[in-house]
Amino acid sequence: MAKILIIATGGTITSVESKSGLRPNDGNVILNALKTMDSSSSFEMINLFTLDSSNIQPEEWKLIAKAVYDNQTMYDGIIITHGTDTMAYSSSMLCFMLQNPLIPIVFTGSQLPISNELTDAFQNLRYSLAMAKSKIRGIFLAFNRKIMLGCRAVKVRTSSFHAFESINLRYVAQIDSRGLTINQNLIPKFTDSSILNTSIETNIFLLKMTPTTDPHIIDLLIDYGIKGIVIEAYGAGGISFMRRNFVDSLQKAINKNVPICVCSQCLYEEANFNIYEVGKKVLDIGVIEALDMTTEACVTKLMWVLGQTNDMALIKKYFKTSIMGEIREEN
Ligand code: ASP
Repeated sequence: MAKILIIATGGTITSVESKSGLRPNDGNVILNALKTMDSSSSFEMINLFTLDSSNIQPEEWKLIAKAVYDNQTMYDGIIITHGTDTMAYSSSMLCFMLQNPLIPIVFTGSQLPISNELTDAFQNLRYSLAMAKSKIRGIFLAFNRKIMLGCRAVKVRTSSFHAFESINLRYVAQIDSRGLTINQNLIPKFTDSSILNTSIETNIFLLKMTPTTDPHIIDLLIDYGIKGIVIEAYGAGGISFMRRNFVDSLQKAINKNVPICVCSQCLYEEANFNIYEVGKKVLDIGVIEALDMTTEACVTKLMWVLGQTNDMALIKKYFKTSIMGEIREEN
């Protein structure tokens, strides 16, 4: 008999109509649904908090990480029900805060509340249950028949049931008429010592380049006390140096020991700042390439890495290394 823990955190899946719009409720409906679905497993639940995920922040990430860490030796699998809007941030951050998980830990949610007759909640709970019982160690996100690594997931659609995609890595498992098929070679390798480390630097800024962005914003961010910046640059890797010249401002930031990570506004495929002059110029001053990482993984990884060290050489080393499958390691 598989022993499964549900950690309920709110989100659409448990939401009910209120005068001020859909509002999340506790996880009792989830527990009942899973018990009805699978009488051969035993279920327990922690109502960790009851929030729309737009309100989930570092304080809640730490609660999730601790709840998983404290309980992972007592269960075969853990299902975390969570709002879809920031689920990819939470699942990415958990990959850094809880390394070498001992059991399958599966995030899921739904686009329609479980009380709606057309809901996708039951399907998503069924898929996460299959993964939670799989004995495959890792942090996953299950949605619409697809299982992806938590640090590769991105919410790409606001309302369709296929709301999530796995970015730059194939799905680690899929569900079809053959059941649950797992791509073993995509599952990261873990050691036996599970580590909880929730120390993070939250003073991080994500800047999306537009053709009118003033590079002076970088100086303002540094004066404000921002400790690390992620820039969503253009295409394969480009940042303006003509008229609105970012090179000098970024150089000043790096000189003040503020790491600058650069990723692409394009969702798919890897960024490479070595191709164009508009990329090489910032690479030459020491920005850190995010390669094929999602923005969510890059932002949370920068927070976590800065929670460990301020040494620029070490920060760069962390970014060249895959912790939980979030980045293609450079050869
Ligand atoms: N606003 C909701 C949330 O993220 C959306 C959802 O769960 O689908 O909590």
